[in-house]
Amino acid sequence: MYSVTDPTTGELLEELPNATDEEVRDAIGRVHRGYESWRRTPLTERVAVVARAAELFAERADELAAIMTSEMGKRINEGRGEIGIVVDIFEYYATNGPALLADVPIRSRSGDAVIRKEPIGALLGVMPWNFPCYQVARFVAPNLVLGNTILLKHASICPRSAAAIERLLHDAGVPEDAYVNVFASSRQVPWMLADPRLQGVSLTGSEQAGVSVAAEAGRNLKRCVLELGGSDPLIVLDTHDLDETVKATATARMRNCGQSCNAPKRMIVLADLYDDFVDRLTKHVSAHYQPGDPADPATTLPPLASATAADEVAAQVATAVRQGATLRTGGNRIGPGAYLEATVLTDVTPDMDAYHEEIFGPVVLVFRAETEEEAIAIANDSPFGLGASVFGTDPVRGRAVADRIEAGMVYLNRAGGSVADVPFGGIKRSGMGRELGALGIEEFMNKKSIRL
Ligand code: NAP
Repeated sequence: MYSVTDPTTGELLEELPNATDEEVRDAIGRVHRGYESWRRTPLTERVAVVARAAELFAERADELAAIMTSEMGKRINEGRGEIGIVVDIFEYYATNGPALLADVPIRSRSGDAVIRKEPIGALLGVMPWNFPCYQVARFVAPNLVLGNTILLKHASICPRSAAAIERLLHDAGVPEDAYVNVFASSRQVPWMLADPRLQGVSLTGSEQAGVSVAAEAGRNLKRCVLELGGSDPLIVLDTHDLDETVKATATARMRNCGQSCNAPKRMIVLADLYDDFVDRLTKHVSAHYQPGDPADPATTLPPLASATAADEVAAQVATAVRQGATLRTGGNRIGPGAYLEATVLTDVTPDMDAYHEEIFGPVVLVFRAETEEEAIAIANDSPFGLGASVFGTDPVRGRAVADRIEAGMVYLNRAGGSVADVPFGGIKRSGMGRELGALGIEEFMNKKSIRL
């Protein structure tokens, strides 16, 4: 069942039935048929449609932000910011698509050849609720430019975003059968992946969903991109301004109410700064992040996306405390609605669940490292490898530390976030493949060698 529940009150606003198996098969048929004409549509036209989509996202930013606020409690300003990045992504691929898809000449010893960049067919996208528009944009914009068609299964708590995105893309000129939204359930995904009319799948979501989708993709030899969870480390080596550093790290952690895959979730602070850092962070977090209405731009702490999500995060915090972690502030559920106090935990050790898990909510973990070497060891002691940050005053030292971190992305003196022209993705249990930038258009591409 797809449904909309107001996360500020818990009130059920709308329910929509899942698509039947027949409707799902029909949707697959549409994107399969749509592929034949979309791939033959001249690149100039595909690019024009994607550029038009960018304009429409900009025009509809307020409407889309309001939908996200109502469905998953995103702060209204963050929703507008999300649409800003979506616009950048569509513009980036519209502008750079032709150059990214140009033939690559090869001077072979046995004569000239080229690599031609072609689409591969109809693709399935399985998307999460935390950035309902941005996650879809990362997958859809490059693939529409390339000539692939898309069947999209969005998260079951954001059907309005899903429908608004489909409407917008069709209004921009994407043919009705080149982008189809389907209210499929996750139980239907395995047999969808077995359907020979779909050539690949991109999933953004949890590790558990990734395991299931990767297994089905493997069984059916389908290409697969997985953008999964993370527990990104943020190392603080030293600072000229501790308050600034504390604020920057808290802001990055609390963005989207802590529900960002590449938020810094584990702050690792060198011993000489640690006590001061924890004190100031605790004061800042408890004073600044106060629960409020996400539709009010002044709100600092919105609800989580659902009561279930808030309960799960509260339970993770309670387990950590039971296992011996120190609760510096927060930890309590606040009702009605899906609120959880902004939380700071310290003294988390490798024998505790919280050390290894992703905590997808407004919870900061702070670790003390005696040396730089130990900070790097803690940073890498995680099943995940999405992003990582290094804060410090010496850029040479910062880069040397960054080079030793096991992650798909490293940020120096900044944390989290994403931009259209820099690839995004992880290693280890954070997934495989890349989205955004020049690499993002290559995942579902046939790089065809042609010997001339
Ligand atoms: P989720 O529960 O895995 O759901 C994501 C999507 O996958 C939804 O459409 C969901 O459908 C579907 N799904 C769930 N289980 C599935 C299965 N076994 N087979 C096929 N599809 C399945 O994740 P979420 O709670 O929405 O999102 C939070 C997670 O996403 C976090 O772990 C976060 O770190 C990760 N994330 C990663 C990135 C990245 O770029 N690396 C970005 C954003 C979020 P239903 O809604 O119908 O269950």
